[in-house]
Amino acid sequence: MSSPQVIIIGGGVSGLSCAKHLESAGVSSLVLEAADSVGGRIRTDYVDGFSLDRGFQILLSAYPEARKLLDFQALRLKAYEPGALVRYQGKFHPFVDPLRRPAKMFSTLRSPIATFGDKLRLARLKIRSCRGEIQDIYSRPETSTLERLKSEGFSDGFIHRFFRPFLGGVFLETDLVTSTRKFDLVFRMFSSGEAVVPAGGMEAIPRQIAAGLPSEAIRVNAQVKSVDPATNTVELASGEKFTASRLVLACTEQVASKLLNVELEESDAHGVTCFYFASNTAPVDQPMLILNGEGSGPINNMSVPSLVDPNCAPVGKSLISISCLGATEDKCEEDLRQKVLSQATTWFGESVEQWTHLRTYSIPYALPQKNPAFFNRREFGNTQCDGVFVCGDYLETASLEGAMVSGRITAERLVHSLAPI
Ligand SMILES: Cc1cc2nc3c(=O)[nH]c(=O)nc-3n(C[C@H](O)[C@H](O)[C@H](O)COP(=O)(O)OP(=O)(O)OC[C@H]3O[C@@H](n4cnc5c(N)ncnc54)[C@H](O)[C@@H]3O)c2cc1C
Repeated sequence: MSSPQVIIIGGGVSGLSCAKHLESAGVSSLVLEAADSVGGRIRTDYVDGFSLDRGFQILLSAYPEARKLLDFQALRLKAYEPGALVRYQGKFHPFVDPLRRPAKMFSTLRSPIATFGDKLRLARLKIRSCRGEIQDIYSRPETSTLERLKSEGFSDGFIHRFFRPFLGGVFLETDLVTSTRKFDLVFRMFSSGEAVVPAGGMEAIPRQIAAGLPSEAIRVNAQVKSVDPATNTVELASGEKFTASRLVLACTEQVASKLLNVELEESDAHGVTCFYFASNTAPVDQPMLILNGEGSGPINNMSVPSLVDPNCAPVGKSLISISCLGATEDKCEEDLRQKVLSQATTWFGESVEQWTHLRTYSIPYALPQKNPAFFNRREFGNTQCDGVFVCGDYLETASLEGAMVSGRITAERLVHSLAPI
């Protein structure tokens, strides 16, 4: 490859999206990725015929940026049933949007998960959340999600039984301190689309974006050691150097601020521990998210991905995914796993004894915190030296959608900076 105009540090979804938009604008780039493959926080491992995402993740089919950037058909998306199975008072209760599944209207209306008033408030919120332009979400005054749910009048019991585990699985925190901007986005997306996964695992998403770039535009196993913003030169851990007229740092905020030697007010990240088990039989028969509405025990949410995409497990086997909030140190993994299995046994009985453990992923930096004080990180994106840009999910909604939006915005700003004045 002749010298690229832009060097992008990081081959996660934001860096790849940025490269793809630059490519469409006729600007050449080289993505330098430290890991052995692109994808960043979206990777899939293939273990004994099972496809294991590194941490349970879903794509929301209504994400507007994803709809523009990705070829959904080629991803062969498989959808979860809308709603959830909520574990409460020793039973699983389906809690489904009756507008989407009219056949489940009566079971949902009778469900003890929510009061009748909560169900009406939910329907009202759903209708309101889909009105107006999506951009409006970002100009509304923000507060915490918990405050919003309370001000909408939802009962404490419903917040505890449904919103905490449901949004906890999305925000990776159950105090619901996350900004209403993220809540509004997520609620609107769940209300207007489906929770989907590509055939073969979530890594198909970054792979598809990467496949739209020239093969020489991506270098893996290329860890950047230092950046010189004065000359737009980057040096790899191997000692190799690259210079370009523009640099994009598409790594996490911690890595970007360290490489640029910029003080960034530290924001926390939310971690998660995801356990995968194989079983001869599926513990439930519906491809739905399963939520812990009881509020005790380590499990926040779980699912049986093989009911959604049978190809993610060998024939005759089921894949079970269980998420516990917070990362786990190696030395505590076995203890937590035993607690998870013991809780699963109270839920599904002795059949849990024949589950075999496949893998555990403990991910300390899964999502950058997005409470109101940290929602807008764009100032960091706007205060770089000439020719140096940052992008990443932390600048937007801390989601796949946010990573893609950030990649596009950065590419647009960069292309603008190249235009003759
Ligand atoms: C367990 C989990 C569950 C999630 N669930 C969902 C979900 O259900 N829905 C949703 O929309 N989003 C979800 N997300 C969030 C989503 O995956 C991220 O928002 C998105 O992948 C972030 O992309 P990014 O490019 O901003 O960052 P990253 O993916 O972190 O990419 C940064 C890249 O930079 C590379 N890098 C770092 N340092 C260097 C260096 N020095 N040199 C070269 N390369 C470097 C890294 O290896 C990485 O590839 C989840 C994330 C996790 C981990």
